[in-house]
Amino acid sequence: MDLLEYQGKQYFARYGVPVSDGEAAEDVETAVTAAERIGYPVVVKAQVRVGGRGKAGGVRVAHSTEEARAAAEAILGLDIKGHIVQRVWVEQATDIAKEYYASFTLDRTAKSHLCMLSARGGVDIEQVAEESPEAIARLEIDPLDGIDADGARRLAQQAGIDTQAIDGVAGVLVSLYRCYEEGDADLVEINPLVLTTDGRVHALDAKVTLDDSAAFRHPEWEVWRDLNALEPRERLAREKGLQYVGLDGTVGIIANGAGLAMSTCDVVKQVGGEPANFLDIGGGANAEVMASALEVIATDEKVRSIFVNVFGGITRGEEVAKGIVQALERVHIDAPIVVRLDGTNAEQGRAILAEYGSEQLISSPTMLDAARRASELAAQRA
Ligand code: GDP
Ligand code: MN
Repeated sequence: MDLLEYQGKQYFARYGVPVSDGEAAEDVETAVTAAERIGYPVVVKAQVRVGGRGKAGGVRVAHSTEEARAAAEAILGLDIKGHIVQRVWVEQATDIAKEYYASFTLDRTAKSHLCMLSARGGVDIEQVAEESPEAIARLEIDPLDGIDADGARRLAQQAGIDTQAIDGVAGVLVSLYRCYEEGDADLVEINPLVLTTDGRVHALDAKVTLDDSAAFRHPEWEVWRDLNALEPRERLAREKGLQYVGLDGTVGIIANGAGLAMSTCDVVKQVGGEPANFLDIGGGANAEVMASALEVIATDEKVRSIFVNVFGGITRGEEVAKGIVQALERVHIDAPIVVRLDGTNAEQGRAILAEYGSEQLISSPTMLDAARRASELAAQRA
């Protein structure tokens, strides 16, 4: 789950990462009231899950009530890279002396955490990484050791952080690491991390991606869960309790078990098809779950064929078949459905499909053959 900037800042504050005082607002009047309370100058910032808000006119400094009103009016409703601004964050403005960059994320290749720190923040960090990679200091962190103040200070020196900011930056890194580690985030990023003209170091922006797999131990995340932030199909899948990930191709995929769903995507690619999604109906799925899965995929206009790949263990073949038939009676599905059923009660399942007698349903004996049929059909119907 990606947090909005102000939610990220609220999370930072819990772990002692310094941020400015502020308030969120969804309309101009609330934004102005917030600005009055905070005191001028304030910064009015668009809250959208996309970077580059500053360049897009989504960050404005205001020195008076009139300016705060004008800023909120200009930003609310603004389209930033396809995201319409529905909320702003109004915070006390900061006098910036220097802009740095700091982040923690997982380095899957090195199997460790990775801290990146640069004295050249504020700008596109991808651009810095490309043009002058040496300007970004990197530190691999063993999850068992973590990072302490000394390690953080050494990294700050290595990154070329200004002398008067070294202790402040090191302090932020230690707190930010706790936020990342104990807070179960996959990514925490501050760009810019600023040195103020009066010598303080604090976070002016916040990008936080929480690890959804850890949601069970963070009931406090619930207030941030915004189903509207999901793509409509992902939202429908979540409501139905399905594991769905949208992809770019034309072959809709339904399988039982994450491993089989991934192999199904692989096999479709191997025979020249392109998966439109990953969808795992889980173990022991009944007819209702199967019907929901088809319903989700049927809303995807890219889908030209559907490949249902079920190896029954606990999941029973006749339930899967009943679900397919139910779905066809309940929702309008244009695409042909290639079904590979194997394992528990597969024969009963195939009999149910044959009896239903729809031309749209194609039974296929093996995974490879089914992948070929589904990919060919998708190509023909492109
Ligand atoms: P982004 O463009 O989406 O990354 O949004 P940021 O929150 O990083 O803001 C963009 C830029 O606006 C920053 O790099 C700063 O230069 C500027 N900015 C943000 N907050 C303040 C502030 O309190 N004071 C001043 N002077 N500039 C700010
Ligand atoms: Mn930023």
